[in-house]
Amino acid sequence: MYCPRCGAANQADQRFCFNCGTRIDQVAVVPQAPSSAGDITQPMTIVPTATYSPPSARIIPNSPLAIVSLVFGILAWVLILPLVGALVAVVCGHLARGEVRRANGSVGGADLAMAGLILGYSQLALMGVGLCALLGFLIVIV
Ligand SMILES: [Zn+2]
Repeated sequence: MYCPRCGAANQADQRFCFNCGTRIDQVAVVPQAPSSAGDITQPMTIVPTATYSPPSARIIPNSPLAIVSLVFGILAWVLILPLVGALVAVVCGHLARGEVRRANGSVGGADLAMAGLILGYSQLALMGVGLCALLGFLIVIV
């Protein structure tokens, strides 16, 4: 198995080139026999071109709203902005998820928005529980 990228000879069962790391298990590589330039009787061997693209080739920007959501979700949890932070995290989280969905893959950050939403909602839930406990306590003692 020859690496389509750098031409290094790899073991047949290897999935990645030992030399450059290119994925080679799905690429059928025909070892190129040296053919003379003038030889036209030989049918052209069509070598499948490697469809390798580095993972970093396409950088998808995160939705700013998703980042805002996550940041405020964290701020809510470190009790810098407990109520406002949680609300901003929830609102921005939903907006960001909508933006990511509409952008059809050109905007990322759905996972960040999800994290912001979870942080925001759990903080709100915690405050809700705390508020109920406080109200219950007040009702009991008054
Ligand atoms: Zn290689």
